[in-house]
Amino acid sequence: MDADMGGGAEGGDPRAFLTEEVKDAAGRVDFDMFAYSKEQLVYVVEYMFHSLGFVDAFGLDEEVIVAFLHALRESYNNVPFHNFYHCFCVTQMAYCVFVAAAGEDESVFLNVFEKFVVFVSALCHDVDHPGFSNSYQINAQTPLAMVYNDMSCLENHHCSQAFALFKQPGCNLLAPFSREQYKELRRLMVKLILVTDLANHSAAKAKFDAAVADGTLDLTARASRDMLCQVVIMACDISNEVRPFAIARPWADRITAEWGNQVAVEKALGLPFLPFMDAETVVVPKSQIGFINDILHPIWTSLMAVVEPVRAFEANILANREAYAVELASLTPAQK
Ligand SMILES: [Zn+2]
Repeated sequence: MDADMGGGAEGGDPRAFLTEEVKDAAGRVDFDMFAYSKEQLVYVVEYMFHSLGFVDAFGLDEEVIVAFLHALRESYNNVPFHNFYHCFCVTQMAYCVFVAAAGEDESVFLNVFEKFVVFVSALCHDVDHPGFSNSYQINAQTPLAMVYNDMSCLENHHCSQAFALFKQPGCNLLAPFSREQYKELRRLMVKLILVTDLANHSAAKAKFDAAVADGTLDLTARASRDMLCQVVIMACDISNEVRPFAIARPWADRITAEWGNQVAVEKALGLPFLPFMDAETVVVPKSQIGFINDILHPIWTSLMAVVEPVRAFEANILANREAYAVELASLTPAQK
């Protein structure tokens, strides 16, 4: 249980900190999540459910939203990277994209149902992450690898855990939906959480890019709309470098710490390990530049090609790459 469990002062209003200023900041990529407790972030997300029109559109129950978010928060582990703050970052970045694209209607962007599915998928996409990657699960032959036959073990687990959360008492966020809506929501949510496996990233991106390039991305067709939803969640999942450097930089150390823990265990157990995950040899600014160039900037470029207002986010990506280049240049030859 977290130290800040219970949140707001006893008997006080847990939403008292949510001033108009904080609400505005929540829609910007420079929102500093570390300035808030996990309990406060629960209420920031609750505010987003209202602000995006989900509560009105679907008749969601206020108490259920808060109970679900508390159960969700408790289901994220205290690991260096894949914790509730990461969950919040990905969700908040989706919110920033929705806010930026608020003027775009269904013919060019997502409708309110799709935004809801992307948003809830973002919230749930890493739930109960153990801090050890799929490659570890497979090599260590963990129970997750056995249950999911080595295929997107973690992502299948996150998705399964998400639907288990809805079944906890008082947490059924999906209760207001009809059987048909539930079926459609579940179909899309499974698809969105599974595409967050980086192993699925290139293929999904290539398919989307090809459709954009040859003009076959057709937002009157379900398949095209699914692809756009996938690109939104993929981009948001790896969006730390879309934030100002001061906020982005600690996340690079967090992933290095989480991967370092894993490699230490892999070495101790005599398992294979991936060199880029080895905290003893990795050069953080160098690996971040590679990540930005090869994965992060390309997926955001794909999204920008279709969702024009998101172009405003690109400046931070380029500035951060430059900041890492400066950091790299300042290292001694031995540190590189
Ligand atoms: Zn994630």
